[in-house]
Amino acid sequence: MATAFPLEPSLWAATAASALPTPPLKGDVSVDVCIVGGGFAGMSTALHLAEQGTRVALLEAFEPGWGGSGRNGGQVIPGLKYDPDELQAMFPGAVGERLAQFAGSTADSVFDLIKKHNMEVPLVRNGWVQGAHTAAGVDLVGRRAEQWAKRGVAGARALSASEVARLLGTDKYVGGWLDPRGGGIQPLSYARGLARAAVGAGASIYGHSPATAMQRDGSRWKVTTAQGATVTADRVVLCTNGYSGALWPGLARSVITPNSFQVATDPLPDDVAKTILPQGQVSSDTRQLLLYFRLDHQRRLIMGGRGPFREPTSPSDWGHLERVIGHMFPAAAKAPIAFRWCGRVAITRDFLPHLHEPARGLLINIGCMGRGVGLQTSMGQAMASYMLSGKADALPLPVTGVKSFPLHQFRRLYLSAIIAWYRMRDGGLA
Ligand SMILES: Cc1cc2nc3c(=O)[nH]c(=O)nc-3n(C[C@H](O)[C@H](O)[C@H](O)COP(=O)(O)OP(=O)(O)OC[C@H]3O[C@@H](n4cnc5c(N)ncnc54)[C@H](O)[C@@H]3O)c2cc1C
Repeated sequence: MATAFPLEPSLWAATAASALPTPPLKGDVSVDVCIVGGGFAGMSTALHLAEQGTRVALLEAFEPGWGGSGRNGGQVIPGLKYDPDELQAMFPGAVGERLAQFAGSTADSVFDLIKKHNMEVPLVRNGWVQGAHTAAGVDLVGRRAEQWAKRGVAGARALSASEVARLLGTDKYVGGWLDPRGGGIQPLSYARGLARAAVGAGASIYGHSPATAMQRDGSRWKVTTAQGATVTADRVVLCTNGYSGALWPGLARSVITPNSFQVATDPLPDDVAKTILPQGQVSSDTRQLLLYFRLDHQRRLIMGGRGPFREPTSPSDWGHLERVIGHMFPAAAKAPIAFRWCGRVAITRDFLPHLHEPARGLLINIGCMGRGVGLQTSMGQAMASYMLSGKADALPLPVTGVKSFPLHQFRRLYLSAIIAWYRMRDGGLA
């Protein structure tokens, strides 16, 4: 089960649209589908099922958006870790093509849903700039731009060092590319907007209702909460991602869950704000331990990156990100840091999102590699479509077995070693 690390100190919790009340489940309910986990994946699944008349109960341990969905950088970026040609080589034929198309459409699904449901979500859609920090990074982003342009993404293009410097407001990159499909949102407002839309469509969302056990009940499932309430359902969908616990054996061990850290400044003065990402793009880079940054709708500079595996114990755990701001954007270095927060991302062995069906009527979605705003929204939509149609090709990639990460019990140790190694290769900045 998820730990009780608070959502409270985040910029998003301080500036989000109000939340719909989601009181805990009491007693016993019977529905068609029980969803566990109230992030983008769970709530998008709930919304798309409820819209088709499916009776849905969603159990969330804390509140909708409490996990990665309410804590992230709010960068809406299409694509997966792998580029379209790589996906097609990994999954030859129709599956690779479907996966590449799915990956390319994930940002659209977020902006379309916000518009369709008139959600109260501050947003900007002026593209994503990925800065390259080395010559190898320049080659990588050049291929990336070329592949998406070939697939019809108008405006996808490689950028020279001077173009990147102009778009980002820093000269610390040697090249980059522009993906016009990307943008930025207030992620907790979006999570709350999804919750509101799902409830509006007829789904029931129960907050502060951690699922602690699930077992077969004849041909159905019975999911029990910490308070002893139960949901009986034909199907269960687990969307607990980086906060997965012991609900399904081995699931938590199938991913490693590093903590990603962010800081946000006070709103920047006009003369400083207009020098950073002046055309309103969002940005992350090609480092192994990537840096990601943007301005929010109130012109705060948000900087994100690595952090300790453990939960933070003092502001110094974010000190490296404050130093990065001084290095990349000296004009913003004096701006006070107003918010420091973090959250867990789920990394799989093959860096692909995973779908599992380890028992009849049980569907599991896990692993987002830190790029899940669009991905998990679209995955929810795909899972709903799969359950409604029964067609395997409604899912973007094949269902696989749950496999443990090798040496999972030593993950803190080897993650620390990997981070130290990557820091050295990335040039030590962050
Ligand atoms: C700091 C940070 C920055 C990021 N930045 C970006 C970004 O800029 N762009 C991007 O695309 N992606 C980003 N990501 C990734 C993205 O946020 C996630 O991929 C996405 O939010 C995952 O959504 P989800 O619904 O799968 O899981 P989550 O949002 O993590 O939801 C899982 C939910 O399950 C609940 N839960 C767990 N166990 C139980 C249980 N037993 N019973 C009931 N509920 C349970 C948890 O409380 C949690 O709310 C970032 C992630 C982090 C942490």
